[in-house]
Amino acid sequence: MKRTATALHRERLTKIVATLGPASSNPEMIRALFQAGADVFRLNFSHGKQEEHAQRLEMIRAVEQEMGRPICVMADLQGPKLRVGTFQEGSVALKPGQKLRLDLDRTPGDAARVCLPHPEIFEAIETGTELLIDDGRVRLRVLSHGEGYAETEVVVGNRISDRKGVNVPNAVLGISPLTEKDRSDLNFALDIGVDWIALSFVQRPEDVAEAKRLIAGRAALLSKMEKPAAIQHLEEIVELSDGVMVARGDLGVEMPPEDVPSIQKRIVREARMAGKPVIVATQMLESMISAPTPTRAEASDVATAVYDGTDAVMLSAETAAGQYPVEAVAMMDRIAKRVERDPLYKSIVDASHPDLESTTADAITAAARQVAQTIKAACIATYTTSGSTTLRAARERPDVPIIGLTSRIETARRLCMSFGVHAVQTSDIHSFPEMVQKAQRLAADDGLAVAGQRIVITAGVPFGTPGNTNVLRIAWVEG
Ligand code: PGA
Ligand code: MN
Repeated sequence: MKRTATALHRERLTKIVATLGPASSNPEMIRALFQAGADVFRLNFSHGKQEEHAQRLEMIRAVEQEMGRPICVMADLQGPKLRVGTFQEGSVALKPGQKLRLDLDRTPGDAARVCLPHPEIFEAIETGTELLIDDGRVRLRVLSHGEGYAETEVVVGNRISDRKGVNVPNAVLGISPLTEKDRSDLNFALDIGVDWIALSFVQRPEDVAEAKRLIAGRAALLSKMEKPAAIQHLEEIVELSDGVMVARGDLGVEMPPEDVPSIQKRIVREARMAGKPVIVATQMLESMISAPTPTRAEASDVATAVYDGTDAVMLSAETAAGQYPVEAVAMMDRIAKRVERDPLYKSIVDASHPDLESTTADAITAAARQVAQTIKAACIATYTTSGSTTLRAARERPDVPIIGLTSRIETARRLCMSFGVHAVQTSDIHSFPEMVQKAQRLAADDGLAVAGQRIVITAGVPFGTPGNTNVLRIAWVEG
């Protein structure tokens, strides 16, 4: 990979994910978003054609080449988004107390009945189950049900139009999180070479296992936590996934809004303890879709996620369809940097330090963090093949950057999502002097250490055997 002279490290440990869409799908905009601070680009397969995503990926790879820095790309699959059918008039006003029948008949509906083309819902509901339409703007309660139909009463009324989304928070539906469209999108995304696959509406650990089988190691797997059922299996889902997202959009429809903040903290904590990257997502700077500055509450929301020690914060419509995509990334960058400089931040993040597992990787990476802190080293350099040692180092949440040195570009790209990691693709090392010199040179070249500063290096000897981190070395960066 060619390297350029531009200042090429972030002065920030928390990462930024930016969603690409109509407002951000040309090379200049993607370059500007990267330069403003986007570390990961999200291709949202709920919108757009496969070919458009392929073009975006091509543009990202061109920027990556030009900048000489790995860039991570995540394909987000739509998942089984449930929807009502259509109405004769295009929409209908529903009033509290009135009855509405849901069935499988595809003829356009009216105020008395409408199609709900998902037989699995009728199998999973019970009397009293609530169905939410259009992000909860309409709330229905099931009065009775049978094969392929339900009689409901409108609890909260509103006008709804054709194909609005439906959420059934308190039922576990007998559906796979991968629809036919998702399977096609998944194969497409793997073919074009994305780094992460995000799985929507995960309900059970088995859903993750199924996706994992299909992906077969070709990308890392991120589970979106947006269903109450998934929260109940949080630990197992984190265990099976490579990363998770706090998907607050759907989560906030499926659960009362007041529950979302605590769930966010639980998910971030669980993922941090497991050493898997976690993204806090949705409505973070929502008002910046149409305004150049955020509300104070939004700034505070981004800050809270950073104080929680999240790996990454995400922008959705702000960068995909908004009027100020670059400003939104720059704003997130400023908020994260500001929080990370707060002395309180350090003490808050340190207050939930994970227990070590009795592995050499944990022993070495925990020691590396301790040594770096004691001698005020400029950074920690970790040699890694699969990325796992670097992830363990990130789990330690050191207050200096972690250089993840790897010969595998896929590993470097995947690591871009993780807290504090400055990933670099480089050739394999064969000797101790080479190990030290390469780390010194890269730290200096990328501006992570200056002459006279020390760096802490971890690696595995014999060199070239993955999964055997067993060396910790301190080195000076020479002038
Ligand atoms: P979505 O996922 O934007 O794909 O729905 C995120 C969320 O639900 O918060
Ligand atoms: Mn969602």
